[in-house]
Amino acid sequence: MHLKTLTLRGFKSFASATTLRLEPGITCVVGPNGSGKSNVVDALSWVMGEQGAKSLRGGAMADVIFAGTSSRPPLGRAEVSLTIDNADGALPIEYSEVTISRTLFRNGGSEYAINGASCRLLDIQDLLSDSGLGREMHVIVGQGRLDAVLQATAEERRGFIEEAAGVLKHRKRKDKALRK
Ligand code: ATP
Ligand code: MG
Repeated sequence: MHLKTLTLRGFKSFASATTLRLEPGITCVVGPNGSGKSNVVDALSWVMGEQGAKSLRGGAMADVIFAGTSSRPPLGRAEVSLTIDNADGALPIEYSEVTISRTLFRNGGSEYAINGASCRLLDIQDLLSDSGLGREMHVIVGQGRLDAVLQATAEERRGFIEEAAGVLKHRKRKDKALRK
């Protein structure tokens, strides 16, 4: 499994549709301060289901929508699509290529899709959760996050291990069921 393409449309500083092609191996994103490198990483977390505005370095979820510049008006929606090569079947779905997408409208509405078919956020989280990818994945270590990992409490550390072992999904479902 590897990430193939990431397309951003109206996400943070990426007002125009921008597609990044990723090859197996190492990809480096280079650029001056403030040019949008971390926004690319935010887009990856977001399309995989991140729900915390703070984790995306914003105050509210709508902050991921292009807010406009002196020369360009704000946009009404942010859209990110991620295509994953699934030839090895690491994702539990019968497709050798999987595209997940997420759209947020300024009025608050959201849309999620797997290979173009509309779905729920939970479906995307479930699809990714045993693959080492996903919302709380610690395979994405953002700027300044390394310290947080090193200074984790025993309980947080247990969470990392549960996630890596693929049991977090079941614990979340159990917690949700118990709340009902
Ligand atoms: P550094 O090297 O300092 O870490 P970076 O390349 O990681 O920089 P980012 O943090 O990805 O930079 O990008 C910050 C830029 O994104 C800022 O100029 C900010 O104004 C812009 N930005 C963030 N959110 C939005 C938004 N919703 N609309 C428009 N621009 C945005
Ligand atoms: Mg950065």
